Amino acid sequence: MDVDAASFADRVLGWYRRYGRHDLPWQRQDAYRVWLAEIMLQQTQVSTVIPYYQNFIERFPGIGQLAEASIDEVLRHWQGLGYYARARNLHKAAQVIRDRHDGRFPESFAAVEALPGVGQSTAGAILSFAFGQRWPILDGNVKRVLARCFCVQGWYGRSDTMKQLWYLAESVTPELNAPDFNQAMMDIGSMLCVKSRPKCEACPLKSICASYRHHCQADYPQRKPVRAKPHKHTLMLLHRCGDQVLLWRRPPSGIWGGLWSLPEVDSARAIELWQQSFLQLTQAPQTFQQDVIRHQFTHYSLDISLAIIELENLPQKISDTDNYAWVDIANLSQHGLPTPVRKLFDSLT
Ligand code: SF4
Repeated sequence: MDVDAASFADRVLGWYRRYGRHDLPWQRQDAYRVWLAEIMLQQTQVSTVIPYYQNFIERFPGIGQLAEASIDEVLRHWQGLGYYARARNLHKAAQVIRDRHDGRFPESFAAVEALPGVGQSTAGAILSFAFGQRWPILDGNVKRVLARCFCVQGWYGRSDTMKQLWYLAESVTPELNAPDFNQAMMDIGSMLCVKSRPKCEACPLKSICASYRHHCQADYPQRKPVRAKPHKHTLMLLHRCGDQVLLWRRPPSGIWGGLWSLPEVDSARAIELWQQSFLQLTQAPQTFQQDVIRHQFTHYSLDISLAIIELENLPQKISDTDNYAWVDIANLSQHGLPTPVRKLFDSLT
């Protein structure tokens, strides 16, 4: 595939000078802030990220403070942003930087890419924005621009498609001004080459964009062959005793890893058994079932039923005290809760 790299970069950089974003809170900041922003921006839009970023920086102004914080506190500041593995990896990576790099953010590609949660594109973006190095990037926005400009065949899950996209990203990234070029490509992807109805008339690439020329922008990037999203179901148990509710800390991996949630069972028949094992109750208390709420994940949807269980007295004992806790309803905000669980509580108060 022929690429006139100089012409491509000139158009992109010329557009960026006039229309690109130059005042995002993490631009022209140190590597820690650039890194944090890049992790938050994975799968999340700029406007959503800004308040989380500012709040996070206020509480964890440097790598040291982040490395020393508890994971619970980090997750609490991430609450609502989703994809919680990002927060756990950020915390782990801060500890790696503290322990292996004397607390200084590394400047080599290999060291940055080795940090938990940092892939090839994120490593390139951090090194480019924080240290002015020339690395290509390939986040969702850049992939879409390149896939449309060059009518790239196949979907992102295919290794030959990704190889082609990396080749193109590498080819069009200029030797000079790589940071501006990378920011410009992300801006073009999020402001002009948007998922549906791209604003081609305003795009600096329209004269060299193959999908624009052939009127087939909607066909690119090519989609993954469709398969129906599976449904899963869970039953959450809300044990309430006066102002206290019982929370369960989820295992560190899997959905909502490490967040506080509600205990779960497969079906109503299993509630009593669960109460005998974990609360050592001998008599089943009164239980009310609530409506089902549906939560959409990328790969499946989850139907959550809620059973509300009123207890007259707090159980004397509880198994696994590390991962279960009675919490005052007024203090729920001090615990990192998954969004649907927070909504469940909001709907009850
Ligand atoms: S011309 Fe249109 S389809 Fe092509 S890169 Fe620009 S906005 Fe995207």
